[in-house]
Amino acid sequence: MIYKISDDMSTTLSEIETLAEHNSDIPFEAIVKEDILRQGMSWSPEALAVAKEYKRKAYFIFSFDMVPISGMEHKENIKAPEEVRLAGGPYDFRPVVVSVRLNPDSPYRVEAEKDSLTLKLSGNAIAGVQLQKTPEYYLKTLSSGRMIPEIVPSIEWGYLLYLTVFRRCQYPSAGEGCLYCDINENYRQQKNSGRPYTPVKSVEEVIDALEIIAASDVDSKAYTVTGGSIASTLEGKSEIDFYIRYPEAIERRWPGRWISKAALQALPKDDVKRLRDAGVQIYHPNFEIWDARLFETYCPGKSRHVGRDEWIRRILAAAEVFGPENVIPNFVAGVEMAPPAGFASVDAAISSTAEGLEFFMSRGISPRFTTWCPEPLSALGKERRGAPLEYYIRLLRVYRDTREKYKLPAPRGYGKPGLGRAVFSVSSFMDIL
Ligand code: SF4
Repeated sequence: MIYKISDDMSTTLSEIETLAEHNSDIPFEAIVKEDILRQGMSWSPEALAVAKEYKRKAYFIFSFDMVPISGMEHKENIKAPEEVRLAGGPYDFRPVVVSVRLNPDSPYRVEAEKDSLTLKLSGNAIAGVQLQKTPEYYLKTLSSGRMIPEIVPSIEWGYLLYLTVFRRCQYPSAGEGCLYCDINENYRQQKNSGRPYTPVKSVEEVIDALEIIAASDVDSKAYTVTGGSIASTLEGKSEIDFYIRYPEAIERRWPGRWISKAALQALPKDDVKRLRDAGVQIYHPNFEIWDARLFETYCPGKSRHVGRDEWIRRILAAAEVFGPENVIPNFVAGVEMAPPAGFASVDAAISSTAEGLEFFMSRGISPRFTTWCPEPLSALGKERRGAPLEYYIRLLRVYRDTREKYKLPAPRGYGKPGLGRAVFSVSSFMDIL
């Protein structure tokens, strides 16, 4: 199958420069980062040969690619890095960390000259490309025979240990999966490609891996426990009973060693209290899409099993338990413009999401974004048509301005905020604070 990017989706350098000129309050680096995240990047074979000596993409939860593994001619899936840091170059980039979303058809391409890498847009140099050294613990094997990056990979330039302890989700299996999500399809393609990809990680294995990381690593400052939704039971346990065992065991062994985060469904208040009592500090009951009609259409499992109004009530109840600043629901930025049901104009999309930001931020709750990656293995990603770049620029502005309006501090658990310092790689929300 040929995966072609839609004509009206790709950007030229002059378009980017014009957009940057008209939006001078948003850093050029953040504009380029959003454009790369929505379109992915390609790698020359020479650049891949350099990259494979550095920390590689671990496929920590979804594919976050714009082409399936079967469409990767150069085996990018096993050679490409987890993230790149763009710095210097003709635009004198202050460093920004960007997640690598593979797309051989993207106008953004990383090329190599000897060992030095450059990001180009349609052949024009944009910035130098730096790669993260492979952490020592990535080379270690557990007593089970598994390598550490398979059990505890890290992202955000090593800041965040990412524990997807259940790599599948029960909603898609029941025909109720979120339409932008490829979790189960990604699991299947990773298994088919031969990558070791444990569906359920045991508490013991996670602790074994963390034992090695705790002894040698100084970069990781936080961990996230997450995975697919458990609509009924998994191994005989409900969602809370299954997931809570991980922070409980970690915090028992290393109380407070990392900032503990949990990204789960919006749970009833008593379950949320159990998370807090287990030592979790930050709770991500991800909301995904503010608009009520789109939430119901694009998140059928969440909608049917919990419901939007109840989801909101639970977020507010969680704020009473954790403190509002420690409840950080994620939004999938741009998916509210996805056809067939999405908003047709940037104005309508921004106005809807701004309403959601106003609702939460006025209550001290600080949402955050992941820039939507139209993954072809998801229902909404087949055409690989993300939201326009203008949407992302305007979203960054309304996000920053609403935070300022309510004088919200930078969110905890993401490292330092600000251009040149931020490490959050799947959207620019930390770069612009
Ligand atoms: S709840 Fe939705 S977004 Fe989350 S893993 Fe399941 S299908 Fe994907």
